[in-house]
Amino acid sequence: MTPIHEMTLEQLETVIRSCTLCPLHSGRTQAVPGEGPLHADIMFIGEGPGFHEDRQGRPFVGAAGQFLEELLAGIGMTRQQVYIANVIKCRPPGNRDPLPEELAACAPYLDRQIELIRPKVIITLGRYSMYRYFPDQSITKIHGQPKRVGDVLVVPMFHPAAALHQPKWRPIVEADFKKLPQLIAEAGRYQAEQAQEPPPKAQQLSLF
Ligand code: URA
Repeated sequence: MTPIHEMTLEQLETVIRSCTLCPLHSGRTQAVPGEGPLHADIMFIGEGPGFHEDRQGRPFVGAAGQFLEELLAGIGMTRQQVYIANVIKCRPPGNRDPLPEELAACAPYLDRQIELIRPKVIITLGRYSMYRYFPDQSITKIHGQPKRVGDVLVVPMFHPAAALHQPKWRPIVEADFKKLPQLIAEAGRYQAEQAQEPPPKAQQLSLF
């Protein structure tokens, strides 16, 4: 079988749909690999499938997904323009938090998705995707603050479900979203500049 780090997005999605690497596969209706265009500028990383996602095999199709679509509409975007993935691809029983071994089993899939999509901006939604980039941080302190990781801008945000459960977070989530168009433009400029930089001297010499 093709190693994960050499798979295309299509191959990866097929493998995820029949994955049996952790016990979550036995309770799922469908795995939820993620969806969106191959080279989307923005990639959202949520937590894991809930009831509706498990039934439909698609990410963010329940109430949180509807709110995510509203937030995107607020900045003139649609979900068809962004890639949406989760840290774990199968629904944990009763929507419990994912276990370390489940996160570890799924991590290579998300790594390869990020590598293939090459987004300009990654938005983490919820604790588990935030921990990938901001371990030991608190979302109440760092939400909406971008951090450059390699040539990608990572922006931690509240999970839309949190704003649905706690209306006081709603204006904060909306305000963080409003910053996105500017961050996308900045991230695009940065990537374009990087692409124009001549390679470091050592690399130039090694060409000869
Ligand atoms: N919440 C998530 O984190 N992901 C989904 O796909 C749906 C709800």
